[in-house]
Amino acid sequence: MKSLVKKVREKMLKKIDQAQLFIEKNANFFRCPLCHQGMQSKEYSLICESGHRFDLSKKGTLFFLKQGHVTEYSKEMFQPRGRMIQAGMYQPVLDVVASWLTSEMSILDVGCGEGSFLSLLKDKVSFQTGVGFDISKEGIYLASNQPGENFYCVADLTNLPFADQSFTCLLNIFTPSHYQEFQRVLQKDGFLLKIVPQSCYLKELRAAFYPDQKDKQSYSNQAVVQKLSEKMAIVQQKRVTYSFDVPEENRLDLLSMSPLEWQVSPERKQFLSENPLRKITIDVDVIKAVKKMA
Ligand SMILES: [Zn+2]
Repeated sequence: MKSLVKKVREKMLKKIDQAQLFIEKNANFFRCPLCHQGMQSKEYSLICESGHRFDLSKKGTLFFLKQGHVTEYSKEMFQPRGRMIQAGMYQPVLDVVASWLTSEMSILDVGCGEGSFLSLLKDKVSFQTGVGFDISKEGIYLASNQPGENFYCVADLTNLPFADQSFTCLLNIFTPSHYQEFQRVLQKDGFLLKIVPQSCYLKELRAAFYPDQKDKQSYSNQAVVQKLSEKMAIVQQKRVTYSFDVPEENRLDLLSMSPLEWQVSPERKQFLSENPLRKITIDVDVIKAVKKMA
C-alpha cells in the first residue's frame, strides 16, 4: 500500500516537473492575463513583471482565471466524450487535421476539454509545442492525465494568457471562437483550423433525442462560417462525412457526450439507454483560415 502511495506521488512529481520544464522552455508563450505583461518561470510558477504569480498544480496545470467558472461541461460529459474519441469516432476528421500540421508547429487547442483531440494529434504529428486550454477545471484535470507532452491550463477564451503571435496553429474543434484574441496570439503566417458540424452531424442522435421536434433535428453552420469569413480569410474548406459503427461498449457514452443531451426528458434517456444507437453520422466542415491582410 505504501509503495502504491509512493508510486502515485512519484507520478505526480513527474508531472509537475515535466510542466516546470515546459514553462522554463516556453515562458515566452505566456502573458499575464491580469496586466498583459510578459512572464518568467520561477520555482514551479509563472510570474509577470508586476509580480502576479501563477503556480503549477501537482498535476502540472496552470489556473489563469480570477475565480472558478461554473460550466455545464463537466466530467460527466468529458469522460464519455473522451472514450468516444479514443474509440475512433473522429479518426477521419483528425486525419484531415493532421495532414495540415507539421512537426515544427506550436499548436494551441482552444477549448480542449479532456484533451483527447490534442493528445491523439500529438501522437500522429509529434509537433514541437502543444498547449490546450479550457474554462472547465474538470476538463483540464482530465486532460492532465493524457499521454504526450502537451501542456494544459484553465483560461478564459476572451482574455488568453498567451503572448502576441506565439502560435503557428490554433485548433478550434466544436468550440466557441474569439477572433480578436485568435488573431492576436497567431503568428503572422499562422492559421486557424476550425471544425464545425454540418447538416447531418449526429443526425441519428438528434432524431432519437427529439423525435417530435423537427427543428432540433437539423443544423446549419451557415452563421458560424459567415462570421468566420468576416473576421478571417478562409483558404480551404473540406467537408468530411461518414458513418461510424459505435462499439458496443461505447453505446451509452454516445448518449452523454454532447450538449444535445441536456434537454432530453428522463423517460426518453431511459428508453435510449435500453435501445442504444449502433451507428452515428459524422458530418463536419474542416476549415483552414488565415489572418486577413490589412
Ligand atoms: Zn501581471
